[in-house]
Amino acid sequence: MIYLDYNATTPIVPAAQKAMLEAFDCLGNPSSVHGHGREVRKNLEDAREKVAAYFDLPARNVTFTSGATEANNLILKSFKGRVLNSAIEHDSVLNARNDAITIPVNEEGIVNFEALEKLLKANNGEALVCIVAVNNETGIVQPIAEILQICQKYNSHLHVDAAQAVGKISLNWKNLPSFTISAHKFGGPQGIGAIIINKPLTLSSLITGGGQERGLRAGTENIIGAVGMGAAFGFDFSTLKPFQEKLENGILNSCTQAIIFGKSSKRVANTTNVVMPNVSSEVQLMHFDLNKISISSGAACSSGKVKTSHVLRAMGIPEETAKCAVRISTGWTTTESDINQCIAVWDGLFNSQHLKEGKA
Ligand code: PMP
Repeated sequence: MIYLDYNATTPIVPAAQKAMLEAFDCLGNPSSVHGHGREVRKNLEDAREKVAAYFDLPARNVTFTSGATEANNLILKSFKGRVLNSAIEHDSVLNARNDAITIPVNEEGIVNFEALEKLLKANNGEALVCIVAVNNETGIVQPIAEILQICQKYNSHLHVDAAQAVGKISLNWKNLPSFTISAHKFGGPQGIGAIIINKPLTLSSLITGGGQERGLRAGTENIIGAVGMGAAFGFDFSTLKPFQEKLENGILNSCTQAIIFGKSSKRVANTTNVVMPNVSSEVQLMHFDLNKISISSGAACSSGKVKTSHVLRAMGIPEETAKCAVRISTGWTTTESDINQCIAVWDGLFNSQHLKEGKA
């Protein structure tokens, strides 16, 4: 079995596994004042320190959540004013508010600066602007520094969805007013993430109960998850560039009409979103699965259904083309042999489909 779906979730790195196994030995609720409680509280606060240290920020800026979905919801739902988000955001942003204004992207998948400025001007600034730093489907990187400048000019708060950014790009984290992360995108466990708030903003907890996480997230903390996240940082996805080049050259050698999205844009090294002409994503996914390779049609959809990507549609890609796109995303377990097999399977399917249709 070959796993090429790192953007959906990553394997847990050994350091995170080890730290989690050790944390299982501790008994106690971090809110309890007795010795057991204090011991697990220390584990939780050490994990918070580690997360903060990765971004070179103070630990108090880190609020643990169940992942980037909850973190995005927390800020978007709490914000009292106007919300603007790009058309290529993750569903956790797109579905959080029904009154948000959409900022279009250009054909390269980059936020349209003029449209953003116009929208901020029309709304007298003071908005919350939500932008995904690295798109999960295409791997395209947004020029966050420039977007931040525009937001600052209009006294607006930029919130960055950095779920796919950790280990893949370096950002000036300290300058970002707020951002969200999710551990299972960089080697930690599923079900833990954080919102990191550098510029104070009034937030109200989505979940009511005890006053955990300074009143922002009620409920007994996910200690094991937090410990796993704190120990997960470290893999540099940019080392995967040679595999990306090999994969994309192999695909283009097999079929010159294949389209690779964001080929000329700034893109992370682990993601390739590619169209096999006239072969639907479903057929491709099944074929890869039969050949024991796990890839994705784009965003991992909870229903397991394959739907046409809103990200590609927002980039002006016709429905017919977008329907034939698949996402291949690599990570630390990926080998050259995985890439060779992936190219061979792609080539085999492309040739068989086109022979069938008498196009060869
Ligand atoms: N934002 C982006 C860009 C993502 O890729 C994901 C996960 N696919 C999320 C948010 C949500 O993360 P989680 O499912 O871990 O809450």
